[in-house]
Amino acid sequence: MSETKEFKAELKQLLHLITHSLYSDKEIFLRELISNASDAINKAKFDSLDKNDLLQNDKDWRITIRVDKDLNTLTVSDNGVGMSQEEVIQNLGTIAHSGTKAFLERSKEALASNRPDLIGQFGVGFYSSFMVADKVTVITRRIGATEAEAVSWTSDGQGTYSVESTTRPRRGTDVILHLKEEAREDFLEPGAIRGLVRKFSDFLENPVFLEHQVTEKDETKWESSQINSSKAIWLRAKSEVTTEEYNEFYKQVGNDFETPAKVIHYSGEGFAEFRVLLFIPKQRPYDFEFYDPKYGPKLYVQRVLIQDHCAELIPPYLRFVRGVVDCPDLPLNVSREILQDNVIIQKIRKDITKEILKALKDLKSSEPEVYRKFFSELGQIVKEGIRIDFEHKERIMDLMLFESLLGEAEKPTDFAEYVGKMALEQKDIFHLGAESRQVALASPVLEAFRKRSINVLFLTDPVDQFILPYMNEYKGRKLVAADQGEIPGLEAVTSEEEATYAEFLDKWKEWIPGLTKARLSTRLEESPACLVSSEGQSSAHMERLLKRMGRSEGMPAPERIVELNPRHPFVKAMNDLFKTDPSSSKLIDSAKVLTDLATMAEGSRVEDPTLMVKRVVSMMEAGLRS
Ligand code: ADP
Repeated sequence: MSETKEFKAELKQLLHLITHSLYSDKEIFLRELISNASDAINKAKFDSLDKNDLLQNDKDWRITIRVDKDLNTLTVSDNGVGMSQEEVIQNLGTIAHSGTKAFLERSKEALASNRPDLIGQFGVGFYSSFMVADKVTVITRRIGATEAEAVSWTSDGQGTYSVESTTRPRRGTDVILHLKEEAREDFLEPGAIRGLVRKFSDFLENPVFLEHQVTEKDETKWESSQINSSKAIWLRAKSEVTTEEYNEFYKQVGNDFETPAKVIHYSGEGFAEFRVLLFIPKQRPYDFEFYDPKYGPKLYVQRVLIQDHCAELIPPYLRFVRGVVDCPDLPLNVSREILQDNVIIQKIRKDITKEILKALKDLKSSEPEVYRKFFSELGQIVKEGIRIDFEHKERIMDLMLFESLLGEAEKPTDFAEYVGKMALEQKDIFHLGAESRQVALASPVLEAFRKRSINVLFLTDPVDQFILPYMNEYKGRKLVAADQGEIPGLEAVTSEEEATYAEFLDKWKEWIPGLTKARLSTRLEESPACLVSSEGQSSAHMERLLKRMGRSEGMPAPERIVELNPRHPFVKAMNDLFKTDPSSSKLIDSAKVLTDLATMAEGSRVEDPTLMVKRVVSMMEAGLRS
């Protein structure tokens, strides 16, 4: 009995988009169907590992594409796991695939920004069949089910589908596309199908056969031949794989429409034999979620796909890397628990980590533009490594990029370049945390650095503040906050100045009770005052970050020191007034306003802006009247 059901709402939207052919690359449906068929075969191989009789002697793994010019159908069949009725409804009636959900969101964005061409860049799996077919029938029999337990699913992609029982003599799935008239010319031609398979699936480990009619001497018969090389791409020699093949494979394994930034393909030996084919994305792939626990390459053991995401093979701070690791030396029945403690896996992971870090370093030096984009989107993840991978700390530090005081905007520098350009007398690496380059540049703390052409790295990524405690030094050079270190070539405050200002400085604590201390400083050139934190204390920037994250509660107020420029006319004038009229209210007002201005200059908020405005206006008024 046939039962008609409605697609879930968001799937209807998706189908509408697909059938209204906003898609430019119609041919990708074939890639999606072959890839589903191959996945199904891989699952069947896996399911039957310890239950060989499940296969009922049908181990002749193959994907078959049958073109039927009489019926105008294109059928993709496999002898994989198949689906039960519930699975059919779940898998083909709802959006099961996370990429498809992301697709919907992206396509809405693309439409909103009037760029429908962008939509064609995303894969939408099974449903892309409706780009070329006005009716799709799926006949499937689950592994272990009987002939009579097969299911037939049919839809015209308009909003409903029907399911009914049917029979299928063997395990597996047929996806039958009733081609739209305009698609027939392209997709009923054996030559065209051959070309597409070569392009999309040549590297697939499962064989793909083409079945089509040939007419010889007025006699029509069916012909079948294998059309892919079915040598898994990662098992082939590097020299035999073209860039296009790597790119195509990456699209499938990485679920990314972009080409990869870097391909890592090698075989390891020694403790075990293994093949690695990994890809570093150019940017954050569209389905990439920051804390998705499902990461890591696919793991193959003895030609069987054991895990789609083997997190044990990769440290979490490199989780954006995608690809395949094939290790025939592992036991086929490896479970999660075994993986965690397996010595071979641990060694492979170590090896892979080294290779990925090396590839990133290469990318950084050979294609700085590409790397910059990569780092701006995924660098935060790489930086997590500073806290967890002590062994590679310096290598990870070498991958970091920073805006800097002397560097141009958007032309970041790194530790090595910074140190390379340091003057002889400079010993430390200076840094300043700020929300942005702009905020950093406005900081009065930098005045002395600017005057002496000493560079300061800007730590503008919030993550930087949290890894800073783990980065005490780089190649023997201490990392020092710009407001704390000793600036080479800075004249000291003279003893005369110290004497002239001594009492005045003492008074500041009374005027501004929140301050730890007031002291003189020569780091300022133009500004009368700035705020700094005492050594070992967190910076103002860090405080602001914590506040924004709601994590500042219960923390002691940071110790803040005001540094005054003894050579600034305003500070001098204050001191002069202090000497003649120490209790003048003008002094308190000036001290308060100066502190507020210094607070603003470091990018923080003043406590009471209204009060500050009042004070400034009345001071200006007094100025006008005098
Ligand atoms: P994806 O393959 O990316 O998960 P699809 O929309 O292409 O998304 O397919 C949805 C689901 O339908 C698959 O995850 C799989 O469970 C099932 N499926 C599709 N094709 C087949 C097939 N040939 N054999 C068995 N299951 C299939």
